[in-house]
Amino acid sequence: MRNQVLIVEDSATMARVLSYLIRQQLDFEPIVKASLAEAKAYLENDPCDQIAAIVDLNLPDAPSGEAVDLVMGKGIPVIVLSGLVDTKVRNVLLEKGVVDYLNKEGRYAYEYAVKLVKRLALNPSIKALVVDDSLVSRSLMVSLLKQHNIKAVEARNGVEALGVLEQHPDIKLVVTDYNMGHMDGFELTTKIRLKYSPEQLVIIGVSMESGGELSAKFIKNGANDFLRKPFSSEEFHCRVMQNLELLETIEQLHRAATIDELTGLFNRRYFFDEGEKLLSQCRKNNRHFSVALMDLDHFKQVNDSYGHHGGDTVLRTLSKTIQASFKGCICARVGGEEFAIIMPDYDLGEAIELLDRFRQEVEETPIIHEQSTIMTTFSIGVVDQGDDLDVMLKLADDHLYRAKDEGRNRVIG
Ligand code: GH3
Ligand code: MG
Ligand code: MG
Repeated sequence: MRNQVLIVEDSATMARVLSYLIRQQLDFEPIVKASLAEAKAYLENDPCDQIAAIVDLNLPDAPSGEAVDLVMGKGIPVIVLSGLVDTKVRNVLLEKGVVDYLNKEGRYAYEYAVKLVKRLALNPSIKALVVDDSLVSRSLMVSLLKQHNIKAVEARNGVEALGVLEQHPDIKLVVTDYNMGHMDGFELTTKIRLKYSPEQLVIIGVSMESGGELSAKFIKNGANDFLRKPFSSEEFHCRVMQNLELLETIEQLHRAATIDELTGLFNRRYFFDEGEKLLSQCRKNNRHFSVALMDLDHFKQVNDSYGHHGGDTVLRTLSKTIQASFKGCICARVGGEEFAIIMPDYDLGEAIELLDRFRQEVEETPIIHEQSTIMTTFSIGVVDQGDDLDVMLKLADDHLYRAKDEGRNRVIG
């Protein structure tokens, strides 16, 4: 796994600050080299585990950016740090394809460099679509994205773009020109938005046309942002980065609102929201629909014997078993040691059969925690009738109560 960040910097203080931030904020390993010679020796023997490099433009043995060329030559994305504010040098370097050129004197430069490294580490998982009828313009945008580790697929017009999107449903970013034959950028944006919300996929419009209405029109059609051509590589990267960050923040918020943190299963709220929808769909189409409620037996004793930590390990391990056992179902943690499963297309008999197989597996599988093996069992109640999810869950709870009463470690429907 690539988890190192190379720092080529002759000032020990600056190298220390960067190393600290990289360890603390990114959990990557900083590798510090203080000169061109040291960096060269290191890279010659290294398997190239670097996500990125932060390189000082002026080193005692490399006064004119030789270290930047060296590291870039190894195919490692380079962020340049320099004490020098020289627009010409800066433009030459950006032209060459460095990720960014930051001024050391700026108070925010270090934080920003680390933020860029984080982006470069996250970007390989992002797929982009570049839509433009001009080959030159398309290639430019594709290579700019590549500089930041984003792979891009291409389309020459809106019609092609929709086809490409169909084939690559994991595309997270669309950069589209306005003026194209066979469906322009507006129409494409509108069509994409019928399927993908701005929280799922970012659209950035680009156009050479002047006139302020264009950017507004793009955004009103559903684009997240707009760029006027020609743009600088810096401007392009800033917009892309900003929009991807927003997308990720929304994803995190969405995750926090729907997923239980300890177990990774859905939480109670998601269970009821999505469960009600699924229930009414199933009822409308005459499909079976079963709901199970399961509660760990004597879980308090697990905590008492193995500590809260041990209890948490049990909850996490069993949640994985639940996820693997109930494919196509909605599995949620609805209380401390209580789980609920929505089983669409299962009649009561089928549900009981699957649940009992699961119950048996849990009974027979020891859970390893530190030096101990922990044995647990589940009591389970299940129903396939009821006016709404609340009622069904209440009935399942009655069965669960009976299962406890009759000796635990059993399924009652
Ligand atoms: P029963 O068989 O009757 O269900 O007995 P029980 O001990 O499982 O039931 P009880 O409701 O008395 O205790 C549930 C315990 O679950 C108490 C609580 O401390 C523990 N618990 C709840 N949430 C968590 C959690 O997130 N982590 C850990 N480790 N324990 C939890
Ligand atoms: Mg319990
Ligand atoms: Mg309980």
